[in-house]
Amino acid sequence: MTATILIVEDEAAIQELITYNLQQAGYETVGADNAEKAMAVIKAALPDLILLDWMLPGMSGIEFARVLRRDDRTRPIPIIMLTARTQELDKVAGLEMGADDYITKPFSPRELIARINAVLRRLAPEASDEAVEVDGLRLEPVNHRVMAGDKEIELGPTEYRLLHFMMTHTERVYSRSQLLDRVWGDHVFVEERTVDVHIRRLRKALQPAGKDEWIQTVRGAGYRFSVLAAPPIKDSDAAI
Ligand code: CA
Repeated sequence: MTATILIVEDEAAIQELITYNLQQAGYETVGADNAEKAMAVIKAALPDLILLDWMLPGMSGIEFARVLRRDDRTRPIPIIMLTARTQELDKVAGLEMGADDYITKPFSPRELIARINAVLRRLAPEASDEAVEVDGLRLEPVNHRVMAGDKEIELGPTEYRLLHFMMTHTERVYSRSQLLDRVWGDHVFVEERTVDVHIRRLRKALQPAGKDEWIQTVRGAGYRFSVLAAPPIKDSDAAI
């Protein structure tokens, strides 16, 4: 899946330069020139990563990072701080305030993209291009193929994204609203029932390979991808 990067930067020339380079590297981008506008963007749809300038008019990047870390919904979004400051003290402060990495201006586009890729691999593997394999089920983001052994599994785009997220976050339960946020990027305008529909389709697609029972319903909590023993699945389980 193509990762969406939110660039929060008040200097138009830098914003433009970063946008151009990230788009060239295959990322989708969205821009904001202050924390308030960035928050409006995030409310509508969660980005996969935020590039956050330290010095912003109004709320500073550091304060904004702190706000994002306090909220359950925005806490998991990886943040890379951009700054002109070079003192080691600031670097420590930035990481303590919740940034996952830190890059000092001026930086080369190549360095920026390398950092973004590293952070995504570590913190948002569902947004990275690395193949994932779980017990004979293999998902290849580069060509959008899912293989169970040597058999290809046909999936719609949403089922594919859902499976990618679940395969990179195994053995953990996600509520429907968390899945909407992390897979659809949106928990506001999409109905929670939508998740159930796509879970059902995903199970159906995985069934011939005998992998459908890995998509487990955890009653009252949500869904989990697990290769461990699961209770038998009933269709009615899709409704939590
Ligand atoms: Ca600035």
